[in-house]
Amino acid sequence: MKEMTVERQLNANEKLVLAALRRCGKPASAYDLIDDLKPDGVKAPPTIYRALGKLIEAGLVHRLESLNAFVACSHAHRCKAVAFAVCDDCGTVDEFESKQLSGILQGWAENARFRLRQTTLELRGLCAVCAEKSG
Ligand SMILES: [Zn+2]
Ligand SMILES: [Zn+2]
Repeated sequence: MKEMTVERQLNANEKLVLAALRRCGKPASAYDLIDDLKPDGVKAPPTIYRALGKLIEAGLVHRLESLNAFVACSHAHRCKAVAFAVCDDCGTVDEFESKQLSGILQGWAENARFRLRQTTLELRGLCAVCAEKSG
């Protein structure tokens, strides 16, 4: 229910960007989004980046550094660590959380007195379908 409230607070552009990412179902770059949203009248890169920043802050979108792309979050988060398995062949992204992983990283951070804000892990490789195809 919490997400619904967050989504209701989004402005028109943020809603459009979020909808485009959900439609896409794959990581999209800011330029993919600009192309996608041109018919809706959203075409200025700063507008898109501002909307993405807000959506990331709200936890509705994640940024994948290695792909320089954005992906709509597939669930509500309870863990601080989010991981993505990215297929190098078909580009499929699988988002998952792990309490254990979260625990390990937070434990390290506490020991090192590192003030951890957020963790995004990216696993690169082949998804099950592509792995099967490649033998
Ligand atoms: Zn997520
Ligand atoms: Zn694949």
